[in-house]
Amino acid sequence: MYLCNQCGKKKDEKDFYKSDLELARRGLWTSCKDCHKARGVKCKRTLRRKVRDMYFGMVRRSQDDGLQPVRFKIETFIQWANRNNVESFYNRWVESGYDKGLAPSVDRIHSTGDYTLKNIQLCTWKWNDWKKNNHDGLLFDSDTPF
Ligand SMILES: [Zn+2]
Repeated sequence: MYLCNQCGKKKDEKDFYKSDLELARRGLWTSCKDCHKARGVKCKRTLRRKVRDMYFGMVRRSQDDGLQPVRFKIETFIQWANRNNVESFYNRWVESGYDKGLAPSVDRIHSTGDYTLKNIQLCTWKWNDWKKNNHDGLLFDSDTPF
């Protein structure tokens, strides 16, 4: 079951559209099909939307992975993301034609830790994926390829 971030209902996987944009591991939109239809417009890949998705991606992953729940509010995360240059990550992604590998992503600095403001950093999707198979650490502290 998946939590829809629009209506807050738990629904089956088939009740969510697939998306290559989302951070969610299973590649689904964070709002359900009904909510998509209700809005009547296609979700735009706006910065606002992206940051929102990143937040709910963390909420969902902390549930899926049995971590401590995310304790900061979305407003706090938006402020944090702005302070951490989310816009430059976002612009790079847009300029690349929405290359999945360059999508802004939230990484846990210590991957066994929880999603706390002290243990997260912004990075690209590609780097996050690479890191999973390599080592922990800060984005700019190590000789990372991305
Ligand atoms: Zn919904």
